[in-house]
Amino acid sequence: MNKTDKTDFGKLNQKRLFIKDVFKGESKKVTVAGWVHNVRALGKIRFLVLKDSTGIIQITASKDKTKENIFNSIAKVPKESVVYVSGEVKSSSQAPGGKEIVPEEFKVLNSAEELPIDVSDFSKTDLPKRLDYRFLDLHREKIRAIFKIQSEIANSFREFFYNRGFIEVQLPSIISSSSEGGTELFPVSYFEKKAFLAQSPQLYKQMLACSPVERVFTITPVWRAEKHNTIRHLNESRQMDIEVAFAGQREIMKFLEEVVKYIVEQVLKKCKSELGVLGLKDKLKVPKSKYLSYDEAVKLLKIKYGEDLSPDDERKLDKKFPDTIVFVHSWPATLKPFYIMPKDGKLDAKISEGFDAIYRGLEISSGGQRVHIPELLIKRLRAKGLNPKNFKSYVDSFRFGAPPHAGWSIGLERLTQLVTNQKNIREAVLFPRDRERLVP
Ligand code: ATP
Ligand code: MN
Repeated sequence: MNKTDKTDFGKLNQKRLFIKDVFKGESKKVTVAGWVHNVRALGKIRFLVLKDSTGIIQITASKDKTKENIFNSIAKVPKESVVYVSGEVKSSSQAPGGKEIVPEEFKVLNSAEELPIDVSDFSKTDLPKRLDYRFLDLHREKIRAIFKIQSEIANSFREFFYNRGFIEVQLPSIISSSSEGGTELFPVSYFEKKAFLAQSPQLYKQMLACSPVERVFTITPVWRAEKHNTIRHLNESRQMDIEVAFAGQREIMKFLEEVVKYIVEQVLKKCKSELGVLGLKDKLKVPKSKYLSYDEAVKLLKIKYGEDLSPDDERKLDKKFPDTIVFVHSWPATLKPFYIMPKDGKLDAKISEGFDAIYRGLEISSGGQRVHIPELLIKRLRAKGLNPKNFKSYVDSFRFGAPPHAGWSIGLERLTQLVTNQKNIREAVLFPRDRERLVP
């Protein structure tokens, strides 16, 4: 455009309407701004499809009625460039959404260079390349839909527990040692001390549940230095966690069941168009629930008692119970961490108060009742071959009036992956951190 043009962008920004409001409103003259989604030139008529965060609208210029410089520059503006358009809104049965804008002013603010990835609806650019240019990948409606749904998932989680008298807490991410034994932590240099990135907020939420705060939730990043390279693991992920005083596995499984149902209900209600864009309109259903003891699961899946569920077993559970949150509870104590309560608080109990929840063929959550009795905790540590000395402050935090308590954690990206039906968890995180990826 004209380089000496003194466009007052402040004024344009003030006048600017979101595209969705153009469709809702009655205004005849509007200013919109956004990115050029598409341009088509058909001899005497030119269409520019403009997108912003709220939708798309067609700008229609014709050789007879549109100013010549506007008519010409519409054909030249590269896709994904940023433009301002002012003009008159007209009804049009052929335009997407039934309205179009006839341009009277047209400003190209920033012309896009040739894009390194395909951001069209039919893009075949592979995932690693797309992730290299994630901010451009978000020019695609499908990609934006995933993160709109993720935002709804997190918000519904918050809303659910907030409305039940839980308080949201902010916990540290730099910790001095592991709560589980220490091999999978990223070290951090912390002045003269050795520190690590937290792999779980568990110890902290337990301390809060053991105080008269009682019921807490948090959404927090966690880091795991596991060298795996799978389609279900990240090295940095976000967890949606709760911890509840005076509760065992039964009570918190019920919370998990209810919150996941609520989350899916809200996504169905508030993300209709996003589900449509992802082709999931009839595919996403509010899940049912199924409770199986570990013993029952072992029989059903015909696996050996004492084995963990393999990814294949998790898929089998989905086949047997589609659209269902499957709770496998009362795991053998040997398969659960030291901090999970053995049944009835007995050290030699074979069964524990720990569970996993499987949804759509993947584990979405683990949790259980915690050991709140220091002496039992020490015995459990020893039984797991761990040195209680290394867990002294953890154990000691239960010496001053700790109630029975229980909690769990849902992986936010895992749940997003499943709700949006993505094969790879990396599709469900904006800027993934995995074994190879540290940029962007
Ligand atoms: P998995 O068996 O699937 O590797 P886990 O048992 O190691 O998971 P937990 O410690 O139970 O994981 O973490 C709680 C939840 O957090 C899991 O159920 C899952 O939803 C999510 N989660 C765990 N590890 C990861 C990871 N590396 N990347 C993404 N999400 C994860
Ligand atoms: Mn787990």
